Amino acid sequence: MIEMSLPSINFSLCNRCGQCVSQCPENALVMTGQGPAFTDPVNCTYCGTCEHLCPTGAIRAPLYVSWRAN
Ligand code: SF4
Ligand code: SF4
Repeated sequence: MIEMSLPSINFSLCNRCGQCVSQCPENALVMTGQGPAFTDPVNCTYCGTCEHLCPTGAIRAPLYVSWRAN
């Protein structure tokens, strides 16, 4: 089973600077009137670049660690 995660975007924090859109290595984002949106979500590799460069913390790509006890 393939599970896909996408960065979350908090539009109330986004100032629409466009850095995440212009710097995404996969061109997965496009700017809209509300803020960035995913053009083709399957292109997102969850690399975290957008989170790293966002000046307001509006886009987040957190990593979670989970484990299973056998
Ligand atoms: S996590 Fe990486 S590939 Fe996905 S939208 Fe952000 S910069 Fe682009
Ligand atoms: S980098 Fe952050 S503030 Fe700038 S457009 Fe993207 S989400 Fe919004």
